[in-house]
Amino acid sequence: MPKTGIHWFRHGLRLHDNPALLACQDEVERFIPIFIFDGKSAVFLPCTLLTGTETCGYVRLRFLLQSLQDLESQFKEHGINFMCFHGEAHNVLENLIKEWEVRVISFEKDSESIWHKRDNLVKEMCARHNVQVIECVSNTLYDPEEVFSLNSNQPPNTCEELRKSCYKIGEPEQPVPRPDLKFIASHLVSTNDLYDPVRHKIPDLDFFNIKPENEKQKKCIFIGGETKALELCKIRIQYEKESFLAGKLNPNLSKPVLFTKEVSLSPYLRFGCLSVRKLYADLKKVYVKNFNGLKNVYCPVEQLFWREYFYQLSYKNEKFAQVDGNPMCFKIPWDYHGKQDLFLKWESGQTGFPWIDACMRQLVQEGWIHHVCRNSVALFLTRGVLFMSWERGMRTFLKYLIDADWSVCSGNWNWIATGDPEEVLNPTVTFCPVKYGKKIDPKGEYIKNYVPELREFPLEYLYEPWKAPLDMQEKAGCVIGKDYPEPIVDNEQAFRENIAKLQQFFHSERKEIFETFLNDKNALKPANSKEYRAYTFAKFLESEFEDF
Ligand code: FAD
Ligand code: MG
Repeated sequence: MPKTGIHWFRHGLRLHDNPALLACQDEVERFIPIFIFDGKSAVFLPCTLLTGTETCGYVRLRFLLQSLQDLESQFKEHGINFMCFHGEAHNVLENLIKEWEVRVISFEKDSESIWHKRDNLVKEMCARHNVQVIECVSNTLYDPEEVFSLNSNQPPNTCEELRKSCYKIGEPEQPVPRPDLKFIASHLVSTNDLYDPVRHKIPDLDFFNIKPENEKQKKCIFIGGETKALELCKIRIQYEKESFLAGKLNPNLSKPVLFTKEVSLSPYLRFGCLSVRKLYADLKKVYVKNFNGLKNVYCPVEQLFWREYFYQLSYKNEKFAQVDGNPMCFKIPWDYHGKQDLFLKWESGQTGFPWIDACMRQLVQEGWIHHVCRNSVALFLTRGVLFMSWERGMRTFLKYLIDADWSVCSGNWNWIATGDPEEVLNPTVTFCPVKYGKKIDPKGEYIKNYVPELREFPLEYLYEPWKAPLDMQEKAGCVIGKDYPEPIVDNEQAFRENIAKLQQFFHSERKEIFETFLNDKNALKPANSKEYRAYTFAKFLESEFEDF
């Protein structure tokens, strides 16, 4: 029997910078790349785990299937069979070990704690069968285990703290080369006798019975797969370079382009079609070349540390994505009871606030929205207007976002809603869906695109159409309350009530911190992360909100 090795793709759906794959094909005489649909990994888990019933959205599933097809065709080009299986990972792999006498199993290390149980089962099973396991870090810039121990086995308090720990380690490892598929095809034993084109094929969308929710979802904006990822990576690097040279820093955030997708790589990073280490190395190269020697200049790799940060925070915390039992989370008495209809209106883009509705409709239709839109709709659902738990909004994001990521999504939601785990965001204008819409979409192009009911509305009233005189509404072909909803709440009043509720909560929960803070705003030196968070929230709640 030839010495047989399996590379198990989960995330990390790529050939470039895939050290586990590279090591596996080096070790063996017969090499088999596989993917396992376990009803959880990559697509379903976040939702099934959280609610038990929901499934993943159509747009994300399509992206995953395209990514697998891209891998399959790259292998096929060299006559290598890529095989799909269905079932619990440890069962599927155990059967293959017995059937094909597999001696080596390789995979990329998953940094999120929710996957550790699955991987431990596989590792235990492999140990029982004396099968070698190759597990490599390449989904993150740094090994979370190493960072964790460097940080005295604690999650970092802030992203800055994480960055400092990482800099102690040094630069991230360089990406490894692509495997030589030609070599594998010509020197290793063929798997044609093992491959069953019906049993091992990549299933199509119909197989999962997940249908598009509307016609617009059928239009594919992000095409899944490594090939596309590498193409877009080049475009992104060029975009950053041109921005640097024009003296514009962090162009993606300083001047948000709500429509553009060529520069956004998050779906590809999420599924591992693009290696974060490659993106880091490429960005750094451009940066060093053009900006070497400049101090205090934004470096584009900084943004990637936020991704790293949320993985690190949740690394040993299986309850990171929930309020209950999560040591990182304030138990704010969010209110959902009797307001389900408001939640559904938020989710379906029918709040009557055109800016919010445009963002939510883009999310559902296309599976991606810009960071400023995510911030805005998350604030609206939580402490800004509706005062509902961030967990609900997170589930909606996990269903629709292509880049939906258990750690990153829950971490961002928690932060937006409660200031956990970072300094509390207090950009007052962001709280107002009217003012913020005007600021980010001053010509109303974005709103008119996603809320076509308002296409003929004059700009003056576009952000708060209920204020337009009736004859103007009629002239624009959109009567508010008939053709487009009235606002579901009075947002300014709701905001003030929310602040009062939060003040009450924090005054009773963290009285000592509030009093110290109110007595002398500079006195408090927070001793630990929980204190730090309460302190930053106190600061937020005592601010003037004069912009409202
Ligand atoms: P860029 O600005 O180009 O940044 C480059 C990369 O850095 C991103 O692709 C991403 O991998 C990383 N990054 C940037 N900002 C963040 C951040 N705040 N947190 C973590 N990583 C970051 N991002 C996800 O990848 N998956 C999610 O499920 C997700 N959920 C979010 C939920 C909320 C409520 C908010 C406010 C943000 C969320 N983000 C999430 C973070 C961020 O909005 C997206 O990563 C970003 O908009 C993707 O677009 P980009 O690739 O153009 O980002
Ligand atoms: Mg990006």
